[in-house]
Amino acid sequence: MSTISELKELLAQPRQIFITTHHKPDADALGSSLGLAGYLRKKGHSVTVVTPSDYPSFLAWMPGNDDVVVYEPRRNDAQVREIIGTAEVLFCLDFSCLGRISELGEYVRQAPGTKVLIDHHQEPEAFADLDYSNSKAAATAELVFEVIRDLGDQDLIDTGIGECLYAGIMTDTGSFRHPSTSRNVHLIIAELLNAGINLSDVHRRIYDSHSEERLRFLGFVLKDKLVVLREYNTAYIAITADELRQYHSKTGDTEGLVNFALSIEGIVFAAVFIDRGQAIKISFRSVGDFSVSEFSRRHFDGGGHHNAAGGISHTPLNNTVERFLGLLPQYQTDLVTAPLAVVPPTA
Ligand code: 5GP
Ligand code: MN
Repeated sequence: MSTISELKELLAQPRQIFITTHHKPDADALGSSLGLAGYLRKKGHSVTVVTPSDYPSFLAWMPGNDDVVVYEPRRNDAQVREIIGTAEVLFCLDFSCLGRISELGEYVRQAPGTKVLIDHHQEPEAFADLDYSNSKAAATAELVFEVIRDLGDQDLIDTGIGECLYAGIMTDTGSFRHPSTSRNVHLIIAELLNAGINLSDVHRRIYDSHSEERLRFLGFVLKDKLVVLREYNTAYIAITADELRQYHSKTGDTEGLVNFALSIEGIVFAAVFIDRGQAIKISFRSVGDFSVSEFSRRHFDGGGHHNAAGGISHTPLNNTVERFLGLLPQYQTDLVTAPLAVVPPTA
């Protein structure tokens, strides 16, 4: 891990700064980016946040959202290449390998500016000049808070910045229930409360802003698409492109589905497969010892965290699910005998 004094030195004069985060940003990805952007702007830097794709509308309330440049290869490739090519500092937040930011990955790799990684995923790729990644952190937003604090600027964290960071920590800890919810996390939340954040507002904006259609879609998925495999303590959901169309599914509408599969008593491994047209996007979750990041890395070109990971498949949905089902027997012992003891909380 790099020392904070190196970053302090880098930011000692006004800089042209680029911030990006992973494909289909979630609340931690966007909250970390906009929280950091708000802080850096207060310090007099010129900041552009670029996301590699669009993101759910329930994140649009975050201060700074209106200035986000959403990368669309056919619309603004030249503009984004220019932003990346001229940036003096490039912050990469909430992803650990450049493959997670699609076309932007190569642009960032080749950019002449100083690359700074702030992330909490396992096995970070060595592409950054300064690396503040820590896989024990509950959220990238937790690390962004610490970076700002360690730079001596905690007093610049206002309500807007605080609510962006809170959103990231709240969602990545599953509303403070995952084992990653350490004492440190709660102490940081106490500091954010001091900065004036409104917990209930943030929670409501993110979790209670569904469209009626999304709820009907959820009903359909739970009734007709959920498959429970008791012999493997596993549950999964596979959604076709036609079904997404039928329910006019929008970005973010499938988020959280995997947690319903995992919420069944006795289930320790859950998967959701979604046919996104170009590829099948997969979400994995587990409770206890079974490592979904390892499973995903080994079989589905993915990764993430011990109990929450993602992956990708380039074969049709049916084949992908069949391949998944074919893998389960070799993990049966782990899945059936795995103690439910959770990973010890981190400091
Ligand atoms: P989700 O299932 O919510 O998309 O992702 C779960 C976790 O795994 C998140 O922390 C996410 O950043 C990470 N993740 C999702 N997809 C991928 C992937 O394809 N590769 C890697 N390395 N991580 C992923
Ligand atoms: Mn995260």
